[in-house]
Amino acid sequence: MNRVLLLATGGTIAGCGADSVSVNTYTAGVLAGDDLLDAVPPLRDIADIQVEQVANVDSADLLFQHWRALVQRIRLAFASDPDLTGVVITHGTNTLEETAWLLQLLIDDMRPVVLVGAMRPATALSADGPLNLFQAVQVACNRQARQRGVLAVMDGEIHAAAEVTKRATQGVGAFTSSGAGPLGWVDDAGVTWSAAATRPPTPFATLELPKQWPQVAVLHGCVEPPGVVLPALLKAGIQGLVFTGTGAGQLSVVERDALAAWPEPLPLMLRANRCGSGPVYRNSEDERLGLLAAGSLNPQKARVLLLLAVIAGWNRNDLAALF
Ligand code: ASP
Repeated sequence: MNRVLLLATGGTIAGCGADSVSVNTYTAGVLAGDDLLDAVPPLRDIADIQVEQVANVDSADLLFQHWRALVQRIRLAFASDPDLTGVVITHGTNTLEETAWLLQLLIDDMRPVVLVGAMRPATALSADGPLNLFQAVQVACNRQARQRGVLAVMDGEIHAAAEVTKRATQGVGAFTSSGAGPLGWVDDAGVTWSAAATRPPTPFATLELPKQWPQVAVLHGCVEPPGVVLPALLKAGIQGLVFTGTGAGQLSVVERDALAAWPEPLPLMLRANRCGSGPVYRNSEDERLGLLAAGSLNPQKARVLLLLAVIAGWNRNDLAALF
């Protein structure tokens, strides 16, 4: 029998509305992980599941302490239990991709860690959570899910942590993988993979996470951004900064002048883009200003990377070497 550790963190999958037609008005993170499991009896046929509640919040309210607890629990579970098949995490959809990417950077094990959420609360007509949860466990128990890193399962699609993103506020098919598309699909016929497994790197596999995390901000690019914001962040001693640049990660002259004029050492900085997909390439002029290109990472994932890089004490060269 497969053995799965189910870590519950809240979100809409554990959300409740006043009635069955309330699909937008509800409270996220109400039901416990055990309730989610009990709502899907066929799960008992495919795995022996141990449930632990790590948090029960809307995922916009997740804290670094929750991330730390998740990482510590998963590392311990894999290290102490060679017979554990995999880990499934129930999670709010709004920041699911950030947690998935965080875990990808920190958890070094060939066994799958699968994140799953829902776009409709548990009380809604046609709630998507129960089937999503069943399919996430199906994927976690699939032998070919090994060596693929952290995964997200939503609406029958399997996505890689590096690529997955929530691209719509409504609809059960709100998730997509920019670039190459989903890694695979899951349904009652089983799990189908679109390509052979390639284990993604885990650059922070041995990093211990502190209680206090650094301050890393994201600045959204736009026409003539207010000139006060960037100097204020630098003055406040921000330790990392992601620019959501226009186009392929382009900064405005207002921002570039503020960086050039800053008399102190600058924080670690990455340029991502606001287009939703596509790479940001290296540019020597930007590098002279201390700005590294985030490649195809979206701004919120670039921030996760910077958080860990600052915790690890990386300098600009260490970060550049990763890309
Ligand atoms: N507000 C919810 C959350 O991210 C949305 C969801 O789960 O779909 O926790």
